[in-house]
Amino acid sequence: MSKEKRTIEIAPGLMSPGGRMGERFLSRSHVCSYCQGNGYHWQENCYRERYKQGCPVCKGSGRLDAVISIQWRASNDTGR
Ligand SMILES: [Zn+2]
Repeated sequence: MSKEKRTIEIAPGLMSPGGRMGERFLSRSHVCSYCQGNGYHWQENCYRERYKQGCPVCKGSGRLDAVISIQWRASNDTGR
């Protein structure tokens, strides 16, 4: 089975005193590991009939987005 791998390269970029010290990335559409991208799970009701129940993790979409926040600070900053 093939596996998709994504990487982010972390570098401070252009910094200035008093400037923004945080950044945010959005990595979209990763396959939901809970339902394997199906968006549902098979369930059985009390009559032993099978029905599809929406995945509670990806809410039925089968996909997950990764929200990555990076906060920059001075190396000798021991606060927080
Ligand atoms: Zn899911």
